[in-house]
Amino acid sequence: MSDDALPPPPVVDISALRRIAEGAWVIGDGRVPLVPNVGIVLGEHSALVIDTGMGHANGDAVLKLARSLAGTRKLYLTITHFHPEHGYGADAFTGAATIVYNTAQADDLSSKGEGYLAMFKGMGPAVEAALAGTALVEADVLYDGAEYGIDLGGRTVLLKTWGRAHTNGDQVVYLPEDGILFTGDLAEEKTFPIFPWFPPDDMDIDGDRWIKVLDDCLSWGPAVVVPGHGDIGGPEILSDVRDYIVTIREKVGAAVAAGQTADETIAAIRPDMLVRHPDWHFPEWIDFAIRYFHATKSTAP
Ligand SMILES: [Zn+2]
Repeated sequence: MSDDALPPPPVVDISALRRIAEGAWVIGDGRVPLVPNVGIVLGEHSALVIDTGMGHANGDAVLKLARSLAGTRKLYLTITHFHPEHGYGADAFTGAATIVYNTAQADDLSSKGEGYLAMFKGMGPAVEAALAGTALVEADVLYDGAEYGIDLGGRTVLLKTWGRAHTNGDQVVYLPEDGILFTGDLAEEKTFPIFPWFPPDDMDIDGDRWIKVLDDCLSWGPAVVVPGHGDIGGPEILSDVRDYIVTIREKVGAAVAAGQTADETIAAIRPDMLVRHPDWHFPEWIDFAIRYFHATKSTAP
């Protein structure tokens, strides 16, 4: 690999702040790998930050920017799921914000958080430096069940979860009055969906439920979709990911029925996926999706 093929360091660029509605902003990821889209939403008396970026320095930069936008409002932080680039800057918010997770996120963090920290630190010096000294933090507020609402003052945000999909504790953040939806990695824009199928260490994916989640989100008719990574858009971000997963599931199901091995299935399906999505990023995730569906043999519905 030549030097210019190395990815840039995973730094949240706060100059990429973009207003998407009155009192709602996104710090765009600039398509930098391992940087998420970060949301900041204000109400009359409180504000919510959605995801932090990876490591203390990113979390601190996001916190300072959120504080400058929020003034004296009470701050909340939530994360879309436990993966390092989304939530491992949360320690910067300790004592400065009320941290809200769902119970499955908290369980993911306590059972797999340290393992993911070690795995990501092995991804190269820039990622290791970003994660140096990272402490995994617990929530101030844990919620059970499918939905948790936070009243920011004149604006309600809904944290919604379905259980295992991309991870055990995926959560979207929906602003019903604005029709704005933050999806985390349940929907990435022009990016092959990440199936973190790493048996035996992590097998906590449910592709069938992932499709249901996207169908449910589509049924709300959101006007603005902020994906976990990539450009902000509309509901087509959701339907593109949904259709991809449905297609993979169908094709792998047929391959399994025909007795093909996982490797044979990959060889048969991957080229077609590349042709269907010539402008999508990170094609290496195609194989993981195929292996997941091959191993679980889902043919639903
Ligand atoms: Zn993720």
